[in-house]
Amino acid sequence: MNRLDGKVAIVTGASRGIGHAIVDALAAEGARVVATSRAAVDGSFPTGVEYECLDVASEADWQRVVAGVVARHGRVDVLVNNAGIIAYETVHDLTSEDWNKVVAVNQTGTWLGMREAIPHMIAQGGGSIINVSSIWGSAAVAGAHAYHATKGAVRNMSKSAAVSYAKERVRVNSVHPGFIRTPLTEAQAPEVNEYVISQTPMGRAGNPDEIAAGVVFLASDESSFVTGSELVIDGGYLAQ
Ligand code: NAP
Repeated sequence: MNRLDGKVAIVTGASRGIGHAIVDALAAEGARVVATSRAAVDGSFPTGVEYECLDVASEADWQRVVAGVVARHGRVDVLVNNAGIIAYETVHDLTSEDWNKVVAVNQTGTWLGMREAIPHMIAQGGGSIINVSSIWGSAAVAGAHAYHATKGAVRNMSKSAAVSYAKERVRVNSVHPGFIRTPLTEAQAPEVNEYVISQTPMGRAGNPDEIAAGVVFLASDESSFVTGSELVIDGGYLAQ
């Protein structure tokens, strides 16, 4: 239980769902974790986990949080850009407001996080960035146009950053969850959830812990030769 000893990690969208599970898993492996989200959390994080309020769409929030982490801990080794929102509209039903909101959180938020963390990672000799995309980052279902657009962007932004900073030992990978039972999917229409599960070869929903396990691997030195990769954790969905 010490695969991440000495590492300092920031996780976005940590108040619930996959982000909360990632915080728990990183902390269990010895990382000093700074959990972030927009709303205050219920204090259910493991002892030692710090909490910061961070709206990923806010440049000022990112500057404050990353500067604070570096001031307190002297480094940032791991950044998990997990925060994400979904909108279900098709191309012609989507308002500019909804489009901009999804892009601001899923895509711009991921870029801002990388922009703030990477200079510190370069200065300290390396780091690991894990960007949470989706199976919808490389395949599609009808609707959710802005979500598909941004998750595809996160997939390729990760590869671009991986190539750009490989020499500086900053590794950047994307994680692609299939259907995972979280507050996000619980809020979806049951027929949507049933459809995605029915299309999943393993025939079940995934658990947040199963995504967190992949994130721990990418955060740890076990993945020291892994960058620009897509870690698909989807019960076989994309293999079809
Ligand atoms: P969730 O249960 O809705 O949790 C989303 C998290 O993001 C919450 O902690 C939320 O906290 C935070 N968040 C939302 N807007 C934010 C903002 N502007 N700034 C900072 N934090 C924000 O979702 P989830 O299912 O755990 O999903 C986590 C990630 O996995 C997302 O990127 C999602 O697209 C991706 N994913 C999920 C699934 C799935 O089946 N669940 C599948 C593929 C990919 P606050 O509202 O408190 O800020």
